[in-house]
Amino acid sequence: MPNYTSAQYTALQDQIRHYNHQYYVLDNPTVPDAEYDRAMQELQAMEAQHPQWITADSPSQRVGDVPLEAFAQVQHVVPMLSLDNAFNGADLQEFDRRLRERLHKHTGRDVDAEVVYTCEPKLDGIAVSLTYINGVLAVGATRGDGHTGENITQNLRTLDSVPLKLLGQDYPEILEVRGEAYMPTAGFDALNARLIAAGEKTYVNPRNTAAGSLRQLDSRITATRPLQLCAYSLGQVSDATALPRQHFDVLTQLQSWGFRINAEMRRVQGIQACLDYYQSLSAKRMQLPYDIDGIVFKVDDFALQQELGFVARAPRWAIAHKFPAQEEMTQLLKVEYQVGRTGAVTPVARLAPVFVGGVTVSNATLHNMDEIARLDLHEGDTVIIRRAGDVIPKVVQAVTAKRMASAKPLSAPHKCPVCSAELEREEGEAALRCPNGFSCAAQVKEAIKHFVSRKAMDIDGLGEKLVEALVDAGHIQHVADLYSLNHATLANMERMGDKSATNLINALGASSATTLGRFLFALGIREVGEATARSLALHYGKLENIMAATAEELQLVEDVGPIVAGRIVHFFADQHNQQVIYQLRAAGINWPENKPTPAQALPLTGTTYVVTGTLNTMGRDQVKAKLQAYGAKVAGSVSKKTDYLIAGAKAGSKLAKAHDLGVPVLDEAEAMALLAKLAEA
Ligand code: NAD
Repeated sequence: MPNYTSAQYTALQDQIRHYNHQYYVLDNPTVPDAEYDRAMQELQAMEAQHPQWITADSPSQRVGDVPLEAFAQVQHVVPMLSLDNAFNGADLQEFDRRLRERLHKHTGRDVDAEVVYTCEPKLDGIAVSLTYINGVLAVGATRGDGHTGENITQNLRTLDSVPLKLLGQDYPEILEVRGEAYMPTAGFDALNARLIAAGEKTYVNPRNTAAGSLRQLDSRITATRPLQLCAYSLGQVSDATALPRQHFDVLTQLQSWGFRINAEMRRVQGIQACLDYYQSLSAKRMQLPYDIDGIVFKVDDFALQQELGFVARAPRWAIAHKFPAQEEMTQLLKVEYQVGRTGAVTPVARLAPVFVGGVTVSNATLHNMDEIARLDLHEGDTVIIRRAGDVIPKVVQAVTAKRMASAKPLSAPHKCPVCSAELEREEGEAALRCPNGFSCAAQVKEAIKHFVSRKAMDIDGLGEKLVEALVDAGHIQHVADLYSLNHATLANMERMGDKSATNLINALGASSATTLGRFLFALGIREVGEATARSLALHYGKLENIMAATAEELQLVEDVGPIVAGRIVHFFADQHNQQVIYQLRAAGINWPENKPTPAQALPLTGTTYVVTGTLNTMGRDQVKAKLQAYGAKVAGSVSKKTDYLIAGAKAGSKLAKAHDLGVPVLDEAEAMALLAKLAEA
């Protein structure tokens, strides 16, 4: 351990006070929690080395920060404290050992006797207190500095899960319930989507959003925010003797009075069972419809809790075992611009590698220039990366305090990084675009990669590297050239050989018998995804009919609005595209011609399905294809517009979201029964 100086100690105290103010008072943290926790641990290490330095106002001795003056104050009769942290299993075992030894010393309790604990997910929101007088909600408050909180009764009244009047009769005259007000993930995502659409600043994470939403001066704003309350303990109670003597039983009692309690809560015996619970909930964490940042373990028996008592800012009878961080800080090394198939230029952040959300992250997409402006990113910024679950990593914030004074804001490129054409930005569009189409090598490569991909022409053995090498060597300039590649050219490419070349020639040959839907999708018309391509094929039956259709006619097809129709007309009007299509057909690409089917005639027309999880009877893609063939739209994510979710085994967040939104769910057996019924009809 380094030898700390008192100047280092006071500097770190000031730093943490600043973090606290930003986090607790302004709801606008400047560093990720992991960074804050490291600072706090270092402060505690300094205090362990020099106990004489500790003053009552050290952040290690206090909870939260002073309440905002804009709200009336509420005095907490029973202080609202924080929780000590465990960062690994050893910390947790140490916590258990300490408290057993303490109980043994003070009461003679057998030191080896296992302790009964209640295990609860640590919801990531803000702590609130709700005081009921004769069963009616009288005061709702924040924790504030633990002794004085803010009166936010009006705001808390807007939450559906806050009972305004308790159920039943047998409650004490004064009952203070404590719990976490939090924002479920789906509500958070929807709120941010609304803010992005309105061109406003988005929230970084559900926790800060919940805190900011509850501390609004206008409760009408709070009322629009999807907040929930989960009860987890008691504060002041007029007659505690009437209540159960175990924490778990108190929570069950609270439930019967009308409070929501957490469904994952368990009562277990001994610390090993706590570790097991931690493991099982870690595995489940991403499927929960809300953020949790750890597990809280509490001694279940109130008599033992009382014996153990408190230290400065936390009880001795509880601990929060934190999960690995989902937000971390790192350096933005540079921003690179990638050109996609349709010419859209996407900025990508290259980052100093950082371990976050269980993986090492060194790249994150920045989507478009609007996103860069919204984040106000500067060259060389220190940034906060968030990776929650299997969601792709996101840059959520620049740490402005760590920005060099000379750093310049990132500006949009003017030229295509690949072909140097002057970039364009269409009105109302966020993306910059290279207008050079098939004269831009990047777009040619992406178009070919798309053309050969599994859901398009499905050509095996033509990987991304080989496509790039073939374009770079000048062997192909557009997709039709693929079919004139010869064996010798392919065999001479790097990492190829006689056998791979033969296989590829065969795969190209096999791909020529396709469907109109696949072919249309493979052409890579902007906004024409798999489902739209299939609808077009179904509706028109013949390519010539689609090529001849007007924008108005195209809009009669399911899924096709004015923008998509415009793109289709534009694509087929282009002479180069016409020529490529001609060449492809001349090279032998063919499909069975279908009779046009008006989309309205199909049994599932107008319904939207989402398919998730592992299905045993047939693959997800196969199920999707069948649903689409019956006229259903198959979407990638669950929303209010979803009519049914088909959920196989191990379904995750989509299932949770469907439950949240009340979307009906079909299990595998039900889905198969539906398909069988449709096949019979
Ligand atoms: P805490 O959040 O670590 O633990 C205490 C809180 O846990 C309670 O107040 C309550 O709100 C919550 N909680 C959730 N579920 C609970 C349950 N079932 N039972 C009891 N409590 C439950 O402690 P804290 O003092 O509120 O805050 C410290 C933490 O806040 C830090 O570890 C850090 O993660 C974060 N923080 C971050 C910054 C920053 O700048 N990023 C600044 C200050 C604090």
